[in-house]
Amino acid sequence: MKSKIYDILIVGGGPMGIATAIEANDNKLTSIVIEKGSLVNSIYNFPDNMTFFSTSEKLEIGNVPFLSINEKPTRNEALEYYRRVINHCNVNINLSEEVIEITKSDDIFTIITSKNKYLAKNIVIATGFYGQHNKLNAVGENLPKVSYYYKEPHQYIHKKVVVVGAGNSACQVALELYHKGIDVTMIIRKNEVKPTVKYWIKPNIENRIEEGSIKVYFEAEVTKIEEKSIEIIQKGKNITIENDVVLALIGYQPNYEFLKSVGVAIDNDEFLTPNHSKETFETNIKGIYLAGVVCGGLKTNTYLIENSKIHAVKIVKDIIK
Ligand code: FAD
Repeated sequence: MKSKIYDILIVGGGPMGIATAIEANDNKLTSIVIEKGSLVNSIYNFPDNMTFFSTSEKLEIGNVPFLSINEKPTRNEALEYYRRVINHCNVNINLSEEVIEITKSDDIFTIITSKNKYLAKNIVIATGFYGQHNKLNAVGENLPKVSYYYKEPHQYIHKKVVVVGAGNSACQVALELYHKGIDVTMIIRKNEVKPTVKYWIKPNIENRIEEGSIKVYFEAEVTKIEEKSIEIIQKGKNITIENDVVLALIGYQPNYEFLKSVGVAIDNDEFLTPNHSKETFETNIKGIYLAGVVCGGLKTNTYLIENSKIHAVKIVKDIIK
């Protein structure tokens, strides 16, 4: 039997993969989304008590209204919203299936996944960045007490926790732990929390630091992690701190190995931007497009859900032209 050839195969079932599938449906193109984890897997893995900084309206896709109790929705509300969107918009999606390999021959792509093989005329890579964390590059960073993701505070009660990082995530987590009475120390590479920290978080964390409720070492880096302590270097001086848990919230990056394996070139700029046209989002390989936050390379705050929705429209417009 002849295999079905999809107009578009979309890698990644995050908001942007789903938005692209809806745009394909609206333009009578056949599509399938392949998602290696759960539906909107990155959001699923966000902290349990997380509230988005965008309003629910800005997170809408496919013209489906997003109603939330407050102006800014919670992670749980977003999970429920995107679940309803895929049903309402008849998105064809396979979950718990990873795209492993993509090759091209005679203008048709062959896609090998962990479960199946597919053929498609076009590929949209919407793989985000949340699956690959940056590394501390410290001795002992693979110990089980070190985590690059945070879910909830309960497990840290009566523990000495170090939060590494100075961005929104690190500041929010340090505050949440502090409010549960947990002993928190922040390790920050520069001499301040990041100026980009949201305006409703920044004064809060700065005041907690100032009053000593949250301890901090500025201009410091973690060099060694052991079972009951960590070593840091601050302005050339080595300091040992008693410690039970390290939460390294130091950012994420696209899966460059996967992009390169597919043949997507990486631009020679400071953010290692995966090559793509800013107009059509097509990469150096004809028929392979990028959508969503993966487009920003190491500058992971370039694209949000809010400003990536247009990618789906531009990609499908280019495909049907
Ligand atoms: P993702 O949501 O990351 O989706 C990519 C998907 O691809 C994942 O589900 C992943 O499992 C899957 N995948 C990866 N590789 C493969 C493979 N080989 N095979 C199959 N599937 C694969 N943005 C906003 O607009 N507003 C906010 O308030 C906001 N808050 C945020 C808070 C936090 C803590 C973080 C980390 C980000 C926040 N963002 C926010 C950014 C937002 O998460 C992203 O914009 C959004 O998730 C990007 O959608 P995406 O579809 O591009 O990528």
